[in-house]
Amino acid sequence: MRILVFNAGSSSLKFGLYDIAGTETLRVKGGFDRFHDGSCDLKLTVDGAHHRLRAPHGDLAAAIAAVPGILAAQGIDGINAIGHRIAHGGALFDKPAVLDTSTLARVEQLTPLAPLHNPANLAGVALARQVWPDLPQVGVFDTSFHLSAPEFSTTYAVPQAWRDAGLRRFGFHGTSHKYVGLRAAEVIGQPLDRLQIVSCHLGNGASVCAINRGRSMDSSMGLTPLEGLVMGTRSGDVDPGAFGFLSRRLGLTIEEIESALYTDSGLKALTGSPDMRDAEDRAAQGDTAAQLAIEIYAYRARKYIGAYAAAMGGIDALVFTGGIGENSASMRRRICDGLEFMGVTLDIDRNQRVDLADRAAPELQSWGSRVRVIVTETQEQLQIARETATALAVMRPARLVLPVAVSARHVHLCQEHVEALFGPGATLTPEFPLRQPGNFAAHQKVTIEGPKGALHQVRILGPTRSRTQIEVSRTDTFALGVEAPVRLSGDLDATPKIRLKGPAGSIETDGLIIAARHIHMHPDDAERWGVADREEVEVRVTGTGRGMTFSGVIVRVQPTAFTEMHIDTDEANAAGISGGAEGALITAD
Ligand code: AMP
Repeated sequence: MRILVFNAGSSSLKFGLYDIAGTETLRVKGGFDRFHDGSCDLKLTVDGAHHRLRAPHGDLAAAIAAVPGILAAQGIDGINAIGHRIAHGGALFDKPAVLDTSTLARVEQLTPLAPLHNPANLAGVALARQVWPDLPQVGVFDTSFHLSAPEFSTTYAVPQAWRDAGLRRFGFHGTSHKYVGLRAAEVIGQPLDRLQIVSCHLGNGASVCAINRGRSMDSSMGLTPLEGLVMGTRSGDVDPGAFGFLSRRLGLTIEEIESALYTDSGLKALTGSPDMRDAEDRAAQGDTAAQLAIEIYAYRARKYIGAYAAAMGGIDALVFTGGIGENSASMRRRICDGLEFMGVTLDIDRNQRVDLADRAAPELQSWGSRVRVIVTETQEQLQIARETATALAVMRPARLVLPVAVSARHVHLCQEHVEALFGPGATLTPEFPLRQPGNFAAHQKVTIEGPKGALHQVRILGPTRSRTQIEVSRTDTFALGVEAPVRLSGDLDATPKIRLKGPAGSIETDGLIIAARHIHMHPDDAERWGVADREEVEVRVTGTGRGMTFSGVIVRVQPTAFTEMHIDTDEANAAGISGGAEGALITAD
């Protein structure tokens, strides 16, 4: 499955295109940033090579509209679905959701919980729906992973009326924590559901997550992404009494305080810059404010790691990710210093020589450390692509509805036999067209004669073929007194002989078969549904008196096919179908 992933922010757009089918391949990724005066910065990574340019796209709409061209330039087409990162799914979404009109309305209700992020994410969805109206779009929520956390970790001790209004802890960065948890489990060589892991996502936004046997048990972010660690511009934990204090002491409004906690706090407040590299550079030059900021940062992270180890009764692994977690050896070391009591011992050299190319996840613990220390680059987009593919696979049986047509007994003739039956120079005369393009029911009819009996007035289907083929049901073979094999159309070697009688003569010919149940499928449907030519699938026939599932239905992918399943009259009778019906396709996986 080819999945396009979008992470739309208020002033940026990141995207990635992944092929997810057994292996996971990133084809292209990119980011549009700094929209200004009809242009923006565009970063592209194609086949591992990075490109940067100023591109003529002035806003989010123009950026999304530019993506098909970027993909086409790489020779990529045939996207199956779009996955969107959505920041807040509240308590409504514990897993990815297909973004149809009713889901989008529910996501919109959650805007008060994430006023900065959700509207931007939703704008991305609306724009993508304009560009790709026919593709399924799936929302993957930052909060979903944490909905498994127990009530005692998500409940604030506040008045019931506040809790009834929705005040609770949610946690964010769920996609990242889930990805690094899975990656760590791969490195350790044990299933995630046997491990106790503390995951530290340390980037501009930062959070720690207790992953207890595959499920998020606790996370340092709460109702909003403000709680917890020191971040680039966010404060992390602050006594909520600060609101009253600041209001009385400095006359600040709620909005002013909240805005400062989001955008003027954290490293920015402590050092003047939201960037950890600046803080580290300044600290190295003796800047005492930067030194203090680094100590506060490391201490807060260490406190959470210790707390979560206690919450889970010990840990197997401590994982670092995010810009700081991945790149700052000194911050990893500061955080781990003092955690020896709980079995974390860092190998100083390994910590220093980290290379994260090609999804590497090196182990940094020293020999004898009870706890593994792992660092890896977070791949939120890949995780979104995975979850989008999974979400669509789960719902495939319900979605893949196709028409089911009943083929009554019929005959295909070669031109030589047309003339033998209807006279020299005769050709088939179309009476009405069939749904498969170019095919028709001919005006002419024949009699099929067997040793026991005959079938009269049997329809001939055109155009003529290179070999004559007679398709009957199993019941018909009893009437004729012959046996016939179940075959796909055209597979006529070693088929029984039978007599055909027309107004101008009769012939004996082989080619008698019972048609194997099959689906004529257009290549676009085959790609969208992830099935291949000659693949056998199951189809659950619905909308009839007797629901029935047909196994071993053979898919025939043909460039001009009208997608439709064909069964014969015996099968239709068994399923209680008269006229047409619908079938839901269920693939082997
Ligand atoms: P992210 O939000 O994951 O992109 O992380 C951004 C943060 O990572 C910023 O604070 C950067 O200063 C920090 N960062 C990136 N590279 C380094 C580095 N080599 N050393 C220290 N911090 C870094």
